Amino acid sequence: MTLLTYISIIFSLIFSVSSIGVVPVPNEYALNAKSKFDDYAEHYLLPEDFHNAETAPVKKPTDAEIESMQNSLLFEGDIMGVPEIEKIDILKKLRDDPMIDEDELFRKPFHSALNLVTYPDKLWPNGEVPYMLEEGMTNDQRTAIAQAFDEYKTKTCVRFVPKTDDDFDYIYVKRNVAFGCSSYVGRAGGNQTVSLEVDKCFSKGIIAHELMHALGFFHEHSRTDRDDFVDIHEDNIRPGMMRNFEKYPRKNH
Ligand SMILES: [Zn+2]
Repeated sequence: MTLLTYISIIFSLIFSVSSIGVVPVPNEYALNAKSKFDDYAEHYLLPEDFHNAETAPVKKPTDAEIESMQNSLLFEGDIMGVPEIEKIDILKKLRDDPMIDEDELFRKPFHSALNLVTYPDKLWPNGEVPYMLEEGMTNDQRTAIAQAFDEYKTKTCVRFVPKTDDDFDYIYVKRNVAFGCSSYVGRAGGNQTVSLEVDKCFSKGIIAHELMHALGFFHEHSRTDRDDFVDIHEDNIRPGMMRNFEKYPRKNH
């Protein structure tokens, strides 16, 4: 055997050992990078979620799922920040005394969306809404959220962007097991929840609806001027749901 043969045997032994069994120990940096990525992947959508969003069929919510936007404890079923119990008082007060304290106005729905002039701090600067997801969302849940985000991307200038360390205000999309789907109206300040019931609220349409609230919209069918555009057929309204079709009070000044 020549020296060259010896050398080549030794080399091949070294390579075969490293390729079969000796698992390289990741260094600290690699571990750190991995845990950062895992953390990111838990809290934000990834390109593959948007790819799935494009290819997965859009799930049509069933009647029962739509029902989950009807939490009787919330204003009009799914709006957080305006307890239903206060609503009757609010409407009465506004009708009797339209000159209600300006500071309280955010809590009262006027027309159908928050007004830039009256509530500039409730809007999201530059049409960008930072978001973060609760940990542990399933692929289907992530896909539905991505479909809703994409709907805004295609049809509006609004963008849902991953929250960075510099973002103080953001929406936190989380799951619940029995409380339906809900959101605050407009930018509430700090971490605001968009809450989605597992197996009920995870479809594009329902999520897009809740995100409209987070942007600053109330319900269009309760608009002050809704009768100029639509007819409300009371026969078609489910028993006990009439209150959701009460018009918002008109702003008198
Ligand atoms: Zn709603």
